[in-house]
Amino acid sequence: MKKKVLKFGGTSVGSIERIMHAAEIVKKEHSLGNQIIVVVSAMSGKTNELISLSDSISKKFNKRELDVLLSSGEQVTSSLMAGALTSAGVKSKSWMSWQIPIFTSGEHANARIENINVKNINAYLSEGGVAVIPGFQGVSKSGDINTIGRGGSDATAVAIAKIFNTDSCEIYTDVDGVYSTDPNKIPVAKKIDKISYEEMLELSSLGAKVMQSSAVQTAMIHDIPIQVRSTFTARQGTEISNQGNIDYTKIVTGVAYSKDDAKITLIGVLDKPGIAADIFEPLGKNQINIDMVIQTISPDGKTTDITFTIKRNDFKKTLDTLNSNKKIKFKNLNHNDKVSKISVVGAGMVTTPGVTFKMFRALADENINILAISTSEIKISVIINENDTLKAVKKLHTIFDLD
Ligand code: ADP
Ligand code: ASP
Ligand code: MG
Repeated sequence: MKKKVLKFGGTSVGSIERIMHAAEIVKKEHSLGNQIIVVVSAMSGKTNELISLSDSISKKFNKRELDVLLSSGEQVTSSLMAGALTSAGVKSKSWMSWQIPIFTSGEHANARIENINVKNINAYLSEGGVAVIPGFQGVSKSGDINTIGRGGSDATAVAIAKIFNTDSCEIYTDVDGVYSTDPNKIPVAKKIDKISYEEMLELSSLGAKVMQSSAVQTAMIHDIPIQVRSTFTARQGTEISNQGNIDYTKIVTGVAYSKDDAKITLIGVLDKPGIAADIFEPLGKNQINIDMVIQTISPDGKTTDITFTIKRNDFKKTLDTLNSNKKIKFKNLNHNDKVSKISVVGAGMVTTPGVTFKMFRALADENINILAISTSEIKISVIINENDTLKAVKKLHTIFDLD
């Protein structure tokens, strides 16, 4: 007997037919004698639909109420899943996060799971029941509902795997594993059988939404292997686990991209100690995450240019914060909110020189201009014009032998 958490994503519970199909998978696993905790996402598109409802009241809709609203999507599917299981003859019950409870801390829309009470669910599992839990949410110590960030049902599944000490954490989704790049956009993408936590974390945080990045981070810290597989085919999926088990034959494992970036350049900023801190401190205080930063050498020793990138939905807030910052002066402000970030990721890069050059040459051959660059041990990212995104991804996928 094994204890398992099975998480079904939005497409996998996107209709009644699909929920019944997912319930069959659960039933099969349960009939093998396993103890099963099911985590469900909202039906695909539901969370976006709920966000637009709140937007139509106000773009600054109350954050507490937004979390109450968004959490309802997963509550609907957990009840439908538990109902589908009982109709299929499996003892099952849904548990809302306040009933368990799943305790969260932090801000609305971006909370973290701190703890989960295992007692009642463990007792139910021992009686042969299947517990169904809504992903993406918890309750704060003061009893308010919190959501834990977009794609957060993955993080719920990993937190459950950790706290219930399950034997496996299985992520059922609409693709049959993690691919070298998004298979829905680049059909020559290849499925990866095994990938390290580190590489998956880079891919996820750089745009591969097949796994949510904070879920991968928790899995990495606590060494919780994850299986990503399809709800719709029986093909073997991808194992995300410790590097030690992985045989590296490729320098680059995958290419990720995000199309929600923006770039800002401050021209003619005074070149003196403390200026960067004066620019970035108010941005940090306003919860704006800075990604890449480039400071050019000052030709006259007096002024310099500073370029940085941010997420596109922070664009307006960033411009407002810069323009109202009395501590800084600049001659000009250039901005471009139609840029994307393309990244190549691979643990093999650590020991292979020339990857950076190869990437830049390939983009140049396609006439793609690089607007900013950042590197870490196992990734290289560039900012380019958004229109060139797929062309760049295709080219990099080919030259790094991933097709
Ligand atoms: P779920 O609703 O099951 O959580 P998501 O839509 O969040 O599913 O994630 C699955 C999607 O991730 C796929 O449909 C695919 O388009 C996209 N994706 C992006 N990059 C990758 C990748 N490298 N490998 C697999 N899928 C990817
Ligand atoms: N329904 C939430 C979202 O769309 C959480 C999830 O699906 O994982 O972001
Ligand atoms: Mg997802």
